[in-house]
Amino acid sequence: MSDPALATILAAERARRADQIGLLAGENHSAPEVRALLGSVFADKYAEGYPGRRHHTGCAQADAVETLAVDRAKALFGAEHANVQPYTGTAAVLAAYAALLRPGDAVLAMSLAHGGHLSNGSAANFSGRWFAFTGYGVRAGDGLIDLDQVRDLARVVRPKAIVAGAISYPRDVDWAAFREIADEVGASLIADAAQTIGLVAGGVVASPVPYADVVCGVTHKVLGGPRGGLLLCRAELAERVDRAVFPFTQGGPAVNQMAAKALALGRAARPGFAEYTARAVANARALGEGLAAEGLRLLTGGTDTHLVTADARGLGLTGREAERRCEAAGLLIGRCAVPFDEVPPAEACGIRLGTACVTTRGMAPEQMGELAALLGRALRSEDEDAEVAERVRALARRHPLDLDRRAEESSVN
Ligand SMILES: *Cc1c(COP(=O)(O)O)cnc(C)c1O
Repeated sequence: MSDPALATILAAERARRADQIGLLAGENHSAPEVRALLGSVFADKYAEGYPGRRHHTGCAQADAVETLAVDRAKALFGAEHANVQPYTGTAAVLAAYAALLRPGDAVLAMSLAHGGHLSNGSAANFSGRWFAFTGYGVRAGDGLIDLDQVRDLARVVRPKAIVAGAISYPRDVDWAAFREIADEVGASLIADAAQTIGLVAGGVVASPVPYADVVCGVTHKVLGGPRGGLLLCRAELAERVDRAVFPFTQGGPAVNQMAAKALALGRAARPGFAEYTARAVANARALGEGLAAEGLRLLTGGTDTHLVTADARGLGLTGREAERRCEAAGLLIGRCAVPFDEVPPAEACGIRLGTACVTTRGMAPEQMGELAALLGRALRSEDEDAEVAERVRALARRHPLDLDRRAEESSVN
């Protein structure tokens, strides 16, 4: 690395990554080969269009890479068509809306206060500005999605599309029930499965592919690939979806990102990946039980996914304060809304954790009790507790990530 300023920042980030324990719901530690492909010669290539129909010359290898990624995505998810060009998950959702909706159309989606993503109608996002969103939510009692409310709202709102899937909902989604409601009111069904698409690949949660008109996913969460989006749909929508990505919402695709997506999709088709996803869910269950023993109420009472969500008020904390205390101990968690509370989103009173990173580090349910105890102690420590920070570092070092240093270095040269 010839730039001393960047070399210093990069070294500090490597150390942070090695010594902290990541429990952010959407993060994972990608394989070194993924990062090597992101830094490969494909990073330079312009390839507007699709394989065999490019607006640039010199695209033979770009065509091969994109075709490989598309074929692997179709095979992995049993989809008739895949588009691997969306730069991010939000870009995939934008393209799904562009394929199926017109500005001003009514859309029914999970409300943000109950776990929906920004692109499900936030006023600060294009979605809330360009479409007329109505939000459904979870039941006050058990915290599960209220399908009766979804049906009632669908009959009143008559949405052009229903969006199912959320960023902050730890339970499996009943895609078939959403399909039935969508059919009853003549709406399209969009699955925003970005949070759980890796678990779908591993076969540990239900697949939206047989039910949704368009499925939105990302490759950087449980899937462990590069940051980026993914769309799946039936053959009859292929052209609309492709045109909604390019030229409607994007320019040239990131060929390096598509190469890394192809690698991650190939890895996810191997048997070891199903085991990985099953362990991520087992870890989340064990971590949730540990946190419940620390005095936290789990939202929905448990989890079917890699996510654990809990009400931080059990320990007298806001979500933001819980984040701060854990970060001081080297534990990275996120804050989230607790349905039916009135706390502003910037503070929030819930915490959200994901087990993809710790599972990638080789941790198993046996380690989750120790991790929950460290989280409990960090959450109770108003001031920095050097001993808990040292124990976190020791646990992280027993499950190292720096075995891949050489590949990482070659990827930035
Ligand atoms: C992560 C996520 C997104 C957004 O993905 P980005 O790559 O951050 O744009 C959208 N929807 C859901 C449900 C997600 O979990």
